[in-house]
Amino acid sequence: KAALYENLDEHTRISFKDVAGLDEAKGEVMEVVDFLKDPKKYTKLGGKLPKGVLLVGPPGTGKTLLAKAVAGEADVPFFSISGSDFVEMFVGVGAARVRDLFKQAKEKAPCIIFIDEIDAVGRSRGKGFMMGANDERENTLNQLLVEMDGFATDKGVILMAATNRADVLDTALLRPGRFDRQIVVDKPDLKGRIDIFKVHTKELSLSGDVNLKALASQTPGFAGAEIANAANEAALLASRRGKQSIEMRDFEDAIERVIAGLEKKNKVIN
Ligand code: ATP
Repeated sequence: KAALYENLDEHTRISFKDVAGLDEAKGEVMEVVDFLKDPKKYTKLGGKLPKGVLLVGPPGTGKTLLAKAVAGEADVPFFSISGSDFVEMFVGVGAARVRDLFKQAKEKAPCIIFIDEIDAVGRSRGKGFMMGANDERENTLNQLLVEMDGFATDKGVILMAATNRADVLDTALLRPGRFDRQIVVDKPDLKGRIDIFKVHTKELSLSGDVNLKALASQTPGFAGAEIANAANEAALLASRRGKQSIEMRDFEDAIERVIAGLEKKNKVIN
């Protein structure tokens, strides 16, 4: 059974510093960090904490990173699972897995449960044509709804989930008391890309000619994951070329490669 629970210890702990750009999204999840640090403070007057926060945005924009940073900032355990893990499960396994996840999390509260690709289980019910496989997915989704309704957030279990298809989600998931907050995690603008380049070149040996702003201008449409990929590729290219530091050339060639890779991927999809 895959580990459900990633312990983000000192060494690997992600903080808001690691998440570049996304200022608005960070501002919104800051509240969740506060809840997790001191759940009682918020429930004293009878208010209810939010249960679920849905991060919505294209692939590679830092949704997982942001969820991990919330756990890191609040210094709480991070349980994660991907919706696609549930696909092709035998009857009963998906629902059992969900039950198990919530049970473990409740024992470790305050904590975060993160469900990546929630659309894989959370697609609206009764619209599938492959009934067999779909039944099990529906069981899993139903169990998720049951678990969400069954826990009180004053214990400090906050659910976070990510999707790039909020429009296909079952409306039951979006009801008050479930994923009632949505936060948009979009592709970065020019300034965002500069900041992401900064984060991902911090530990690299850069030559004096490297201009991060110019690199950011050359990469419109890149998500954070592609920028991270380009920075690493540039370091590898420079090493292969026997250089002592990474030059602008290496970055530009690396960007070309990432773009070529993206084009290939699009061709496969179409
Ligand atoms: P997916 O929807 O494909 O799961 P995601 O939105 O969850 O994608 P992440 O897995 O968080 O994206 O991002 C992948 C990697 O890209 C991160 O580990 C990080 O290295 C880099 N990255 C993405 N966005 C940012 C960002 N805003 N700041 C810094 N690094 C980023």
